Amino acid sequence: MTQELRQTPLLRPARGGLYCKVGGFYIDPEEPVDTAVITHAHSDHARPGHLIYYATRESLPLLERRVWTAEQAASPDEPRPHIQPVEYGESFVLGEAKVSLHPAGHLLGSAQVRVEHERDGTSEVWVVSGDYKRGEDPTCRPFEPVECDVFITEATFALPIYRWRSTREVVSDIYDWWEENRREGRTSVLFAYSLGKAQRVLAELTRFTDRRVLLHGALVDFVDLYRDAGVEMPPTKYVTEMDTSTDFSGELVMAPPSAFASSWMKRFGDYRTAFASGWMRVRGIKRRRGYDTGFVLSDHVDWPELLQSIEDVGARRVLATHGKTEALVRYLREERGLDAWGLESAYVDGGPYA
Ligand SMILES: [Zn+2]
Ligand SMILES: [Zn+2]
Repeated sequence: MTQELRQTPLLRPARGGLYCKVGGFYIDPEEPVDTAVITHAHSDHARPGHLIYYATRESLPLLERRVWTAEQAASPDEPRPHIQPVEYGESFVLGEAKVSLHPAGHLLGSAQVRVEHERDGTSEVWVVSGDYKRGEDPTCRPFEPVECDVFITEATFALPIYRWRSTREVVSDIYDWWEENRREGRTSVLFAYSLGKAQRVLAELTRFTDRRVLLHGALVDFVDLYRDAGVEMPPTKYVTEMDTSTDFSGELVMAPPSAFASSWMKRFGDYRTAFASGWMRVRGIKRRRGYDTGFVLSDHVDWPELLQSIEDVGARRVLATHGKTEALVRYLREERGLDAWGLESAYVDGGPYA
């Protein structure tokens, strides 16, 4: 490792992602590029249109679903994207950079990207966290701290008010809520993001029940792909497969947030709604969105996990992106004495790379 960090950054923001010039590749770019390294299959990170994708083997089925749509597959002019599967921890060379992917604990197949560049006998290591969390999750490998010189971290929930309870406690509350509604003869409609969160709740529910759970169509494919990957979940059924005369009282139905307050919900008769999300930590949001109940469950780090991760990787410089970067940067500078920057501010006048 070098004594001083280089003035030429190994990664910088470009095309809606991060660009590595010496490696000739982008991480999670928004615009189509030749070579993309993808951290995970959420739609704001994995976009269609790149020529070559590098991603973990475990994320492959989810990624294919995202970047090779049925429409594209049906068009003869559309070049099929080349997806190169990589094992966790396996190094590969892109240009002059040595790259490897490491578990991020965010969802099935999610990865942090480690980029190493050697010059004049010294090497510099940057790690891009992608989205990540430290809380337990039976659907993916746990986050692995990777030592680095520069750590680019997400800051989605980077405020001290964000502190998560254990997954098991939260899902125990979800189960109790379902039970209470069942006793009252009501349907429980639980909203959760269709990739990651829904499967995590289902997998945790196996500790409490083997009762069937009903799914909105948007969840069906991803639940099947998780099951194919060996993740155990309770039996599930597609709501639309049910007879039109079905009485849904006592059932648990899971759906994406977009289905809330839609006509799709009319069939459930007397129902109660809940949303499982880190945003439910904020009371105002729960009220504003109109859910009956909120369960605080996030696939991102909370404040203590974020600070712990920064300590674990031992980086000399921290660049924060996505969300509450200002509060985090100020805290890291003032309380931890770290060389911390918002990602964008690190590359403009006054930043370390100005
Ligand atoms: Zn994500
Ligand atoms: Zn994200």
